[in-house]
Amino acid sequence: MSVESVPATMHRVMGTADGVRVVEVPTPVPGPGEVLVRTAVAGICGSDTHALHGRHPFITLPYAPGHEVAGRVVAGDGRPAGQRVTVEPFLPCWDCKQCRAGRQNLCERLGFFGCAHDQGGMAEYFTVDARRLHVVPDELDWATAALIEPLATPVHAIRLAGGVRDRTVAILGAGTIGLLLLRVARAHGARRIVLTARSAANRDRALRFGADAAVDATAPDAIDRVRRALAEGTPSARGGASGESADVVFDCVAEQDTLLQAIGMADKGGTVVVVGVPPGDVSVPLPVVQDSQIRIQGSATYLPEDFADAIELLRAGTVTAAEFVTAVWPLAEAAGAFRDAAGGGQIKVLLAAEPGVAGSRPAA
Ligand SMILES: [Zn+2]
Ligand SMILES: [Zn+2]
Repeated sequence: MSVESVPATMHRVMGTADGVRVVEVPTPVPGPGEVLVRTAVAGICGSDTHALHGRHPFITLPYAPGHEVAGRVVAGDGRPAGQRVTVEPFLPCWDCKQCRAGRQNLCERLGFFGCAHDQGGMAEYFTVDARRLHVVPDELDWATAALIEPLATPVHAIRLAGGVRDRTVAILGAGTIGLLLLRVARAHGARRIVLTARSAANRDRALRFGADAAVDATAPDAIDRVRRALAEGTPSARGGASGESADVVFDCVAEQDTLLQAIGMADKGGTVVVVGVPPGDVSVPLPVVQDSQIRIQGSATYLPEDFADAIELLRAGTVTAAEFVTAVWPLAEAAGAFRDAAGGGQIKVLLAAEPGVAGSRPAA
């Protein structure tokens, strides 16, 4: 492959207090240990739309978004030019207690590419620490490659829950992460999976994507409905009027009302995994947590093994871009893409840095 010429300036998306802007900036130059990557696609995450509306606890405006990104290596640190890569976006210091213990996602001095960093993947080019790259297998097209990072989040959450094989699962929220969790939990052998969602459209979507039942999250008896739906179909359905508890509840919304529901569903002996980014503090019914021996587990991002598992799940077709990528916008129209993503009708919205790139695989 011939050496690619790199333009002196390029376009980068910025999330600002005045909305989404596309700015012209100098093309970054890789430093020692870094790689220059030419972006193919970058996904818009719920955390991006939250950040734009000032509802993300750890992202401050302005920032350079794009942590769900795939592209081609241009130059740097011994990687072959043209190699297809995705970024594992948190940027650990590699030196603190957590990093030395292999828990880089809990680094005491954690940076985050595309969130708390001077660069993100919503740009024509970016540079990043070569250690944060994963190779994208050739059989995954670019749109599928953009799902590796979002899929790694539920993979990690299920790992932290201790797995879901033969267990009953409730998932609160039928947005992108809820639907990805549903597919991963199914692939990992969950016995029964019930989702909750506030909108009828999202409940229908959850059923189409394979939930055993979908419950209206706004119903006053939502907890009992979920417990009854979990008890259905079990050989010894002794659940009674209030059904049976969920072994694992994944709270993908993480607000006061969903956390109370999650604890009610997990009662007794269950695990509540907080997967969504909470917009603020909530209160916890501690007597129930203690007396019913409920475990509350936070789940933050992922580790390299979760990326590897996500790639395998995409290879196996557990999750497909045809179902999950519902809109692709050109990078130059990022503002429109963010509005589309915040509108609630899409699952995953991608920005494509080149026309027609999203559905393409590498040219031979
Ligand atoms: Zn994300
Ligand atoms: Zn560290």
